[in-house]
Amino acid sequence: MSQGPYKAVVDPVKCLGINKCGKCIEICGFNAIEEINGKALVNNKCMGCGLCISKCPSKARILTPRPSHRIKLLDWSSKIEEPTR
Ligand code: SF4
Ligand code: SF4
Repeated sequence: MSQGPYKAVVDPVKCLGINKCGKCIEICGFNAIEEINGKALVNNKCMGCGLCISKCPSKARILTPRPSHRIKLLDWSSKIEEPTR
């Protein structure tokens, strides 16, 4: 599964801490949240699903555009046929 166009980021000031909360770690199915200095930060496994944002009681998490993400444009020009008359 490829990563989406967004990834989660955390405001460590707003994060209540793993010991007091930890709801984001419980919900993340991608093992993308790590404890650093007691806070729930995001590692490079984040898929951008947004589940952790919906569970955070202190609104410490947001989705932000992933800089490395590029939309692949398909070349349809060779597939377009001229209408027959
Ligand atoms: S759900 Fe929010 S407040 Fe709770 S540990 Fe995660 S980031 Fe911190
Ligand atoms: S957005 Fe999804 S994959 Fe990323 S940290 Fe939150 S729950 Fe995990």
